[in-house]
Amino acid sequence: MNSRREAMAQIANTRAPEMGGNGNFIEEFGCDVFGIKTMSEYLPKPVFKKLRQTMESGKALDSSIADDVAHAMKAWAIRRGATHYTHWFMPLTGATAEKHDSFLEPVENGEVIARFSGKNLIMGEPDASSFPSGGLRSTAEARGYTAWDPTSPAFIKRENGVATLYIPTAFCSYTGEVLDKKTPLLRSMQVLGQQAKRLLRCFGKDFEAGAKVTLGAEQEYFLIDKRFYVQRPDLMQTGRTLFGAPPQRHQQLEDHYFGAIKPRILSFMSELDRELWRMGIPAKTRHNEVAPAQFEVAPVFEEVNLAVDHNMLIMDALKRIADKHGFVCLLHEKPFAGVNGSGKHNNWSISVGDVNLLNPGTDPHQNAIFLTSLCAVIQAVDRHADLLRSSIAGAGNDHRLGANEAPPAIISMYLGEQLADIVEQIEQGGAKSSKRGKTLKIGADILPELPCDATDRNRTSPFAFTGNKFEFRAAGSSQSCASPNIVLNTAVAEAFDEIASTLENLPKSADFHAELQKILSSIIRKHKKIIFNGNNYSDEWKKEAARRGLPNLRTTPEAIKPLTDEKNIALFEKYGVFNRAEMLSRHEIFLEEYERKIGIEAGLSLKLARTHIIPAVAAYLESLGRSLETERLLGVKKSKLSAYAGRISGRLDSLIEISDKLESQISSGDKISKLIDTMGELRSIADAAEGEVCNELWTLPKYCEMLFVY
Ligand code: ADP
Ligand code: MG
Repeated sequence: MNSRREAMAQIANTRAPEMGGNGNFIEEFGCDVFGIKTMSEYLPKPVFKKLRQTMESGKALDSSIADDVAHAMKAWAIRRGATHYTHWFMPLTGATAEKHDSFLEPVENGEVIARFSGKNLIMGEPDASSFPSGGLRSTAEARGYTAWDPTSPAFIKRENGVATLYIPTAFCSYTGEVLDKKTPLLRSMQVLGQQAKRLLRCFGKDFEAGAKVTLGAEQEYFLIDKRFYVQRPDLMQTGRTLFGAPPQRHQQLEDHYFGAIKPRILSFMSELDRELWRMGIPAKTRHNEVAPAQFEVAPVFEEVNLAVDHNMLIMDALKRIADKHGFVCLLHEKPFAGVNGSGKHNNWSISVGDVNLLNPGTDPHQNAIFLTSLCAVIQAVDRHADLLRSSIAGAGNDHRLGANEAPPAIISMYLGEQLADIVEQIEQGGAKSSKRGKTLKIGADILPELPCDATDRNRTSPFAFTGNKFEFRAAGSSQSCASPNIVLNTAVAEAFDEIASTLENLPKSADFHAELQKILSSIIRKHKKIIFNGNNYSDEWKKEAARRGLPNLRTTPEAIKPLTDEKNIALFEKYGVFNRAEMLSRHEIFLEEYERKIGIEAGLSLKLARTHIIPAVAAYLESLGRSLETERLLGVKKSKLSAYAGRISGRLDSLIEISDKLESQISSGDKISKLIDTMGELRSIADAAEGEVCNELWTLPKYCEMLFVY
């Protein structure tokens, strides 16, 4: 039996594990988090108060309490079974990083105690030389620092009965340049918060509480049986299939989306939810996605910094728990050509006190704030569409953006019929609304109520208003949410800043609402080109977008170029989110990462063609040769076999020819775009051959197996 068939026979005999009830999952929620409740139990009252202030208001940490906090954290962690702690951070690899240290400390007489000081908590000093820095630091200067982020609570992660205390940290170089994704996120939250409060003051609303950016990140993923995975070197090395023909039936019947969840998958999801809940991650929704073997998990939204950390933990848990269940979780944006890829819907909003600025609400005053915030987002997205695009660029997402199921590489905004109508009214200076017959000024009592769900959904838009938040859908499934939110926060902060500046400088005698009306209509006139409520997947939209002058940055190198533009460097420098060197280094890192990834894919395509595909086709040709010989012995006269064998031989020739071409392009260091083209040529011949060569001789597990047998 060939190994594909053997894998299928084994999977057919695999039963879903019994999950043994739910225990008290409500009580268990957050039991492995050193959160507010635990802190209040473990910390002296004054220390707890100070720490809580830091967590909730973003005020600087009082370093005198660090020893007390560290002591409490250690006592709690050890009681929960931990022996080690780690500073957990997000270097520019896009993954997370950790190095474990034990609490153990030798004292006299060969004895040991458990020790964890304030200094251990606040700062770590990992060697930074092996993390990407994009020229910010020479390899000889290895020093890097991790700094405790008290706004994201420490937690315990468990793996195989091993408990470790994780401390979320920021990561920077010896000279203070940021080497991670958390630091700029924290900076961007801070500026947006400041500008939001300033803007609200113009409306006569003064808030003690800080502004909060909120994020709900929906995570899509594939699960395939590990017994197939280990037979696909392309999945193991690149996260996606470099070869493989889509099966006859994949997602055309639309029967997977929201379908009944199969037993092995449900057991997996159940364990995933339990584990996430223990770590305080509010996983809420689980369901089958559009493509076969594709699924989604979505938590309830949280403050953005925490939500980004939690999304990293979700991706980590998906992989770990999949393994326990005999699956592999694929987070690549396009693991299988021809069926849907995976994204990460970035649901974003901002609230100050208890006011969600993007909630249309029912009282007219709130509406004025809502419409102002809405216009600010319109301006931000239009002015910085290039940066938003760059924030989700990557080799994986290139396959997805613009493919027929994902939002295109062109950034546009969907407002829905009703809001689009209102925006149009504002543009025209508060004209009569034909829809409602009311006057739509930003004034007080004449403003209509804006029902929350007056809008339909548009699944094709990369940036859609969905009731009380914006959903940025172009983010890739494997990416950290930090980058898109850094851009969104900073771009909207700039818009808030500009509007607030105009409002603050109005003469006392000015009619506030009339002036606001003017500001908003001018924003809409300037930026309405970003609004598009139609089908983003259509070819007409590509043409229309070009007419409107919207950027269409199709590949990663084009998409990250804006990181080096003066306009963008100026934006980030103005708000202290990135300095010039940090921007340029990021560009360099992302470009290098992209080129390396394609280089790996090209090398592996060649290797798979030569060691799997060509041998299978050649073996098949050999068997056809034997059949021809048999025909000859039998004296068959009018045979079609010879011509058929000739066709297979032609495929073999093409495969050999194109793989030789790929080899010479690789060795001569040809352009990345050339490698991509040749890989595509090689793949199309190989995929055609997959549909011709005897099934028994084909070594790579096929799509119909990986996507349907589990
Ligand atoms: P849908 O995508 O179908 O609209 P939901 O309305 O349930 O689904 O929301 C999807 C995600 O958006 C969830 O993670 C949800 O918690 C999050 N979300 C809801 N309100 C907000 C908000 N104010 N800010 C950020 N995210 C939010
Ligand atoms: Mg959604």
